[in-house]
Amino acid sequence: MPTSAVSRLSGQARRVEPFHVMRLLARAGELEALGRSIVHMEVGEPDFPTPGPILEAGQRALADGRTRYTSAGGLPALRRAIAGYYADRYDTPVGSERILVTPGASGALQLVFLALLDPGDRVLIADPSYPCYRQVLQLMGIEPIAVPVGPDTDYQLTAARAEAAWAEGVRAIVVASPSNPTGASTAFDVLSELHALCRDRGAALVVDEIYQGLTYDVQDRTALSLGSTDLYVINSFSKYFGMTGWRLGWLAGPEDAVEVMERMAQNLFIAANTPAQHAALAAFDSATIAVLETRRLEFQRRRDRLLPALRDLGFSIPVEPTGAFYLYARLPEGLKLDSMTFTSRMLEEAGVALTPGNDFGRHDAARHVRFAYTREIEELDEGVRRIRDWLAGI
Ligand code: PMP
Repeated sequence: MPTSAVSRLSGQARRVEPFHVMRLLARAGELEALGRSIVHMEVGEPDFPTPGPILEAGQRALADGRTRYTSAGGLPALRRAIAGYYADRYDTPVGSERILVTPGASGALQLVFLALLDPGDRVLIADPSYPCYRQVLQLMGIEPIAVPVGPDTDYQLTAARAEAAWAEGVRAIVVASPSNPTGASTAFDVLSELHALCRDRGAALVVDEIYQGLTYDVQDRTALSLGSTDLYVINSFSKYFGMTGWRLGWLAGPEDAVEVMERMAQNLFIAANTPAQHAALAAFDSATIAVLETRRLEFQRRRDRLLPALRDLGFSIPVEPTGAFYLYARLPEGLKLDSMTFTSRMLEEAGVALTPGNDFGRHDAARHVRFAYTREIEELDEGVRRIRDWLAGI
C-alpha cells in the first residue's frame, strides 16, 4: 500500500486550513467556463491596474538589467522614500533605518511574528480578522487567541476587550486598521490605549496598515505617531498602490529590532523582488498619488452605492465601514441559512460570488458574508439585482 505523502507532513502543515473562498473561486471558474456570468464580489484586490508611473519605472529597471539581489533590508533609496512618505503625508518622521522592505505585507508579518514570539507564546487577534494571522501564528507554534468583536466596538479590539481576554503567555496584540473583512478603522485613542496596555504588560502592538490610504470620512493616520517602543507597523504596496502581484511591502519597528529582522530576512528570503523595488520608487510621486486619489474616491463612491443597497435587501451593516474595500454584512434576519450555504447557493443559483464569514473567524461568522467592492458600479448593481431576485424567489 503506498503511504500518502500527507501522512508524513508535519502536524502544523496539516493543520493549515484551506480558505472556503478558494473553493468558491474554483467553482466560479467552472461555471464561467460553461458560459455562466458570475458577478465577482469576493476578490480582495483592487480591479485597477498598477499606475502608469510605477509600471514605467519597473520597465526601465528591467531594461537596465536591474535583476540582481538588493540588500536584505531593501534598496536604501526605497527605504528613504518610505520614510519620506511618513514624514510628508502623515507628518510622522521615521528614520529610514527603522524601515525594512519585504515580500509583501505577508513577508513583513512573518518576520515580525518570528522576531517577537517563541513557540508556545500567545497573541490576541480580533474575531473576525484576516485569516492568515491565525494560520501563520499556528504554523509557528504560537497560539492565537481570537477575541470576539462586534458593532459595539466598531468591530475592533479595544484595550478593555484585550485586557479581559489577556492570558498568561500573551506577548503581542495584532490590529488591522482599516480591517479586513469589516472595513472598520480603529480610532486613534483606542490604538493609543492598546499600545499603553501592551507596554504595561511587556507585550508588543502590531498594527497592520495594509489598507492605509484607502480611507473614507476618517482621517488617514499611521500608528507610527504613537512612538517607537514596542510598536510594529506592517504595510504594503499591494492595495492602495495597486501592486498586489509585485509582492512588495514593508515594516517599521524599533531600530535595534529592525536590524535583527534584517538578518532574519537575509536568511528567510534574501531580499524582496528587485524590479518591484525599483518600480515602487515611483509610488510616492505626485503623478502616482494623483491617480491613486482618483481611485480612492471611486472606491468611496462604490461603498456609498453598495452599502444602502445591501441594507435595503435586509443585510445588517450596523457600523459604516470607513476603509479598505469590504462590507461585512449579517445575513437578513428571516433567512434561515448559514453563510456557507448562502454563499454556495448565491454562486450556483444567482451567479454572485461572495466570501463566507467562516473564513474570518468563528464568532457569529456563520451568519456573516464579506462583500468586496472591487468591481465597477454597474457590476455591483447587477450583483445587487441578482441577490434581490434570488431573495424574492425563495
Ligand atoms: N494583511 C491584510 C489585512 C490583508 O488583507 C492582506 C491581503 N489580503 C495582507 C495582509 C497581505 O497582503 P500582501 O502580502 O499582498 O501585502
